Amino acid sequence: MKYIFANWKMHLGIRESVALARAVMQTLRGEDDMPQVVIFPSFTVLNDVRKVMARSRMKLGAQNCGTEKKGAFTGEVSAHMLEDVGCQYALVGHSERRIIFSETNEIVAKRYKTVLLESKITPVLCVGETLVERQADNAQGYVSEQIVSVFNGVRIPRQKEVFIAYEPVWAIGASQPASVADVVSMHSFIKELVKKLTDVADNRIHILYGGSIDAKNVYAFLREKQVDGVLVGGASLKVKDFELIVKSATDVITAQEL
Ligand code: PEP
Repeated sequence: MKYIFANWKMHLGIRESVALARAVMQTLRGEDDMPQVVIFPSFTVLNDVRKVMARSRMKLGAQNCGTEKKGAFTGEVSAHMLEDVGCQYALVGHSERRIIFSETNEIVAKRYKTVLLESKITPVLCVGETLVERQADNAQGYVSEQIVSVFNGVRIPRQKEVFIAYEPVWAIGASQPASVADVVSMHSFIKELVKKLTDVADNRIHILYGGSIDAKNVYAFLREKQVDGVLVGGASLKVKDFELIVKSATDVITAQEL
């Protein structure tokens, strides 16, 4: 299976989100060998997008999740609320949350554990080094710290799978993505690390790449067996580009079945 995750960030209101969800659904009609497509819209449009996607194979995700179950936490949205509105996935620790909203590894770990243990939602942990860390030859060390802080001492429930999006900060919204070779090497490193920290089997750990994925470069990533999918920001807002990205995933799945 390959996974195509679409992060719509804070770009679209209700009308635009519903229109885009409808358009994406149209493009997916009739495809066999489909990747699993998950849309991550803003909180305020989750319910509307859920209704549009109700009878499709696409799934719904949230871009973040609160650390607490319930109570006096003004402005927070809990895992139960997200489950209630139909989310099956939630991003945790996106670099924009870490950098712009000062979310530390501790906060991210708390969010991850809340989603993992207090709801049926699958958390998607976003990790990735800054340019400074890569230039200092410390990309693996930095990513390793992000992962260890989340998985140390955590038991992954049987019904849950592990999803990690490797998104080097310097490649997000940039003119080009990381190199395929660097991504493959980091994905292998991440998978081995997660296996060491948890007792989760290889086929229940999925590592996605994110950072300037577009219709032209996506195939080169997806055809690598270490790349289980992609997390797409900018290009997921353009129907034609997103359709071509899904088509590339379909082509890879078909080719790998032959
Ligand atoms: C992202 O923000 O998760 C992302 C991958 O963005 P982009 O595809 O625009 O680089």
